[in-house]
Amino acid sequence: MTNSSHTPDQEFLKNLTVLFVEDDPDIHRLLDRVILRHAGTLITAHNGQEGYELYLAKKPDIIVTDILMPTLDGLAMTGKIRESDTEIPIIVTTAHNDEAYFLQSIDLGIDRYVLKPTHPEILLKALYHCARALWRRREQESANRYVRFILDIQPNLLLVAAHGHLEYINRAFLNLLGYSSLETFLASGTSLGEFLRHRSGEPFPPQPDGWMHALLQVAREHGIVQLRCQESEQNGSIPFAVTCNALPELQRYLFSFSDVTHLEKEKRQLEVQAFTDALTGVCNRARLQGVLNVEIRRSQRHEIPLAIILCDIDHFKRINDQFGHQVGDDVLRQVAHLMASNIRAEDTLARWGGEEFMIVSPQNDLENMRQLAEKLRALIEHTRFPTVERITCSFGVAQRQGEDTMRELTERADQALYAAKNGGRNRVEVIDHPN
Ligand code: GH3
Ligand code: MG
Ligand code: MG
Repeated sequence: MTNSSHTPDQEFLKNLTVLFVEDDPDIHRLLDRVILRHAGTLITAHNGQEGYELYLAKKPDIIVTDILMPTLDGLAMTGKIRESDTEIPIIVTTAHNDEAYFLQSIDLGIDRYVLKPTHPEILLKALYHCARALWRRREQESANRYVRFILDIQPNLLLVAAHGHLEYINRAFLNLLGYSSLETFLASGTSLGEFLRHRSGEPFPPQPDGWMHALLQVAREHGIVQLRCQESEQNGSIPFAVTCNALPELQRYLFSFSDVTHLEKEKRQLEVQAFTDALTGVCNRARLQGVLNVEIRRSQRHEIPLAIILCDIDHFKRINDQFGHQVGDDVLRQVAHLMASNIRAEDTLARWGGEEFMIVSPQNDLENMRQLAEKLRALIEHTRFPTVERITCSFGVAQRQGEDTMRELTERADQALYAAKNGGRNRVEVIDHPN
């Protein structure tokens, strides 16, 4: 071998420690020099027992051993080493080439054979072979460590699912679950499915193939899950957006979870804003239409009554004209507050338009709603408002009939209101049949 062009395994062998176990001093004299010239460090032993002790004390990278030796033979030493170390490459030099030895050494996981008398070139070839395998393994290990390091420092929660089981979860995920490693998590017998909830609050199946399938489904659809965790503010669960990357050739899925608590909060605030009337703080027309559609369907399905009240402030234009728009706004706010304080929690009050309000009341029939409208009418009539003193309102009441749509029902309430206005205002009118 020349030193002119070193291959990676030749270079690598220069960094390795070789333990050479051989009882014959002549062979030591011949081969020690050869090994030393190519390996980083050489440790020599003269029997299996000494070899085993040096293995424990010095942790060599490769072992070269003779078989027949006093005290402990090479195969017995190999057996003891293999009890705790299945990785270290072991090369055996032997004059025996009978089958029984070969079979025993295969069982022991010996990496290479060199026949005696040992030719230095053949031993070196065997050493390079082992060095190459070690080098590849260490490269792979350091690549794996690097990938894990990258995944572990990610603030997002990451998990790798392989063949229907949990193969990896990163540090952030373990911290959230309250476990120090994947092994302790798996040993606890807890399923990750138990930590997952759908957006609706519905639990995930606990079996690994069940929750993985459900998670894939979520990642393909809206992508939001709730993760149960002790430290969160919102009832012990945090909303996460989940995405999935499939690695089909490896049959693995990488799921990534990012905390969307702030987005969900903003979304809720926007939803509230989108459904609230800015001036009065009661529901707006869009929200009421949503409620009314749901209530009409429910009332039709279960044949329960549904009635609505439409209320319009009388001569409101005059208030604006006489006292100004600001005072008009105050009156709108006060009327809304007065009505909101005098309906049931299950009723919905909304600003329907300029100075019109609507109340939707599930499970109340026409007569109940007429009475409620009458109560509100009297209340407003007898309330003393700042600046404007007295105001009155007119009310139209209608109830769902047959296959009414929202439009038909609200138009009937509008007709009733029109009748109340025509009838002299400050009154309640009811329409209980479609015309
Ligand atoms: P009627 O008794 O027939 O209902 O008469 P009215 O004056 O109340 O009805 P009309 O429809 O003629 O006028 C409603 C007025 O309400 C006109 C509009 O300028 C005013 N208005 C609508 N929205 C607001 C608002 O947000 N603030 C104020 N201050 N006025 C509003
Ligand atoms: Mg009016
Ligand atoms: Mg009006």
